Amino acid sequence: MEKSSKIYVAGHRGLVGSAIVRRLLKENYTNLILKGREEVDLTRQEEVERFFEEHRPEYVFLAAARVGGIYANNTYPAEFIYQNLMIECNVIHSAYKFGVKKLLFLGSSCIYPRDCPQPMKEEYLLSGYLEQTNEAYAVAKIAGLKLCQFYKRQYGANFISCMPTNLYGINDNFDLNTSHVIPALIRKFHEAKINNYPYVEVWGTGKPLREFLYVDDLADACVFLMENYDDELWINVGSGEEISIAELAELIKKVVGYKGEIVFNSKMPDGTPRKLLDTTRLKNLGWQRKVGLEEGLRMTYKWFIDNYK
Ligand code: GDP
Repeated sequence: MEKSSKIYVAGHRGLVGSAIVRRLLKENYTNLILKGREEVDLTRQEEVERFFEEHRPEYVFLAAARVGGIYANNTYPAEFIYQNLMIECNVIHSAYKFGVKKLLFLGSSCIYPRDCPQPMKEEYLLSGYLEQTNEAYAVAKIAGLKLCQFYKRQYGANFISCMPTNLYGINDNFDLNTSHVIPALIRKFHEAKINNYPYVEVWGTGKPLREFLYVDDLADACVFLMENYDDELWINVGSGEEISIAELAELIKKVVGYKGEIVFNSKMPDGTPRKLLDTTRLKNLGWQRKVGLEEGLRMTYKWFIDNYK
């Protein structure tokens, strides 16, 4: 990528897309194409083709997706599979048709089987059944990484993919019904603190283990891969930092400064028991994460207080 290359960040208002934009601007990339849904609806093939024909991006970061936490994924599976498949097919095919030099597709660690050996290596894809609560999203993301692989194999298009672990950070979605666990708990503990609620409800048993990565670290990895990686095999992006949901709740309670109790609601789903990525391949390329979990939580909580209405 040249500093003046035409770079399209699809999904630039989301958690991941906005972090990629911050990163590119910081590194003095000057020619970014950023279009919201009102300008181009990525689920509509004609609109996407017209957009690519008009703007002719040279590089594409495909961070646009319908995303959500365990409750949203479990409640709206038809929307999750349909919208994500449409976005991927339209953007990846248009990128091929209009000669994009390189595209990076963003997937998710939920693509791996539910009972996968841990940590999960790239090679374990499609070796077992998926976790039910996010199967629709996972199937769409598997299709996306396969699209990139097959467009590379058949057409020689330089389309690569990365699979990030659970992400969090500034610009996240803090809506309690659709968010992931970290923004949900930040909001719940904050509201409990200012309203003096006696307890905070945490979904599930607290036993599942999750790995978390601060979104600016992911953005760093995305730009790094765009500049240094051309293989057909997708690549895992994780932090190696694993924590139980119960320990995470304690840590967020401490960061927020809440003094009350934590109550587990085991009527809500736990989801997959463990989800830790093997990031040996990325590490061997020389990439490392910078932001630890507690530091990232502090930055996210500060952003939440300053920005969330
Ligand atoms: P997942 O990694 O796909 O399961 O996505 P989530 O971030 O939504 O959930 C991670 C884990 O946190 C699951 O075991 C949830 O049950 C648990 N969890 C606990 N409290 C909450 C909450 O308030 N919101 C969400 N989204 N998850 C919660």
